[in-house]
Amino acid sequence: MMMDPYKIRLDFPILKRKINGKDLVYFDNAATTQKPLRIIEKFTEVYTKYYANIHRGIHTLSQEASDMYEDAHRIVSEHLNANDWREIIFTKNTTESINLVAYSYGINKLKKDDKIIITKMEHHANLVPWQQVARKTGAKIEYIDFNKDYRLDIDQAEKIIDDKTRIVAITHASNVLGTINPIKDIIKIAHEHDAIVLIDAAQSIPHNKIDVKKYDMDFLAFSAHKMMGPDGIGVLYGKEEILEKMDPFLTGGDMIKDVDLYNAEWNDLPWKFEAGTPNIAGGIVFGETIKYIKDIGIENIEEYDRYITKYFIDKYNDYKLDDIMLIGPNDYKERTPTFSFYTKRYRSHQIAKLLDLEGIAVRSGFHCAHPLLKNINILNNNLYNLGGTFRASLYIYNTKEEVDYFFEILKKLLK
Ligand code: PLP
Repeated sequence: MMMDPYKIRLDFPILKRKINGKDLVYFDNAATTQKPLRIIEKFTEVYTKYYANIHRGIHTLSQEASDMYEDAHRIVSEHLNANDWREIIFTKNTTESINLVAYSYGINKLKKDDKIIITKMEHHANLVPWQQVARKTGAKIEYIDFNKDYRLDIDQAEKIIDDKTRIVAITHASNVLGTINPIKDIIKIAHEHDAIVLIDAAQSIPHNKIDVKKYDMDFLAFSAHKMMGPDGIGVLYGKEEILEKMDPFLTGGDMIKDVDLYNAEWNDLPWKFEAGTPNIAGGIVFGETIKYIKDIGIENIEEYDRYITKYFIDKYNDYKLDDIMLIGPNDYKERTPTFSFYTKRYRSHQIAKLLDLEGIAVRSGFHCAHPLLKNINILNNNLYNLGGTFRASLYIYNTKEEVDYFFEILKKLLK
């Protein structure tokens, strides 16, 4: 039986809020998701019962907090089907996870004329760090293009990924277009040339089951806050044999085994990459978030996602909003429920403000993806000058009635 969004909604106190006198319709999930009561209460439990600094004290509280924090790594590891929990590094967010790889792997291992391959649909988080690596090492960045139907050009990818390629870093799902990229094919091509692959899963892991072994992933980066978990906690999964050969990104307390005046010996994985006091409560609560997802069932989330994505696209087609253009793949099976629109009649911020007056939260602008928006500008003239797109992004607590309301309001606004 399909997951019941009306039942799920009851777990989220914020969804009862009124905004400008209207029921909140929260369609800004690609930016961040709302939190269920179970997650909010877990913070209270940690801070009222188990809180102390980890890995430092012999006392009971410190040991309990250390065990729970370590356990959260194990829970994430199982969720990803990793070989070992030591392959799970807790960071601040996706951005820090990618920077960790860019600095510890990229800057240390790349040389002049090595190639870094990314796509033209990256969030800045998976773009700017590679520009830094290129600048510091003399490596070159080349881009996988996308077609008019907003899907990656795999033929071109096959041509540009070659023996000079050392790193392929691509987003699994676009935060603007919703496109789900064929990462399995890309990983296969990259591995044929002995290149390592980093997958930015910030927009896919909230919606899809990800199995790092099945896809033979080298690195995977994501943020807890986009999958109902706390902000300030992110994950970098890395294959053990690669992580073992990398130097730490940040150095200081907790990431060492021994230090003398002129040298230091690194700690074991994952602590080698978790310098200083980490986000202890956030990490433990993230473990609880994964348990919440497990209780719903990731397959049920995938099924509901496909349902609501299809419903949204069908409604868009039914409403015949001719001067509101929806960009991204037409096929609901090839995308997440993240929908970007533009209209030549209003700037994107104007639409977002008008929707807010009706209780609907959407994001507008360039979505931290300036090159992507500039590229679409060429395909759909002047999009960039219209202030980018307005984006409705849905999650498991959004209902078809909310989709109906969204299109009703859009129609009214454009009359
Ligand atoms: N990658 C993608 C595809 C994203 O959509 C985002 C955030 O929107 C990020 C990376 C960065 O995530 P964070 O801000 O949590 O580091």
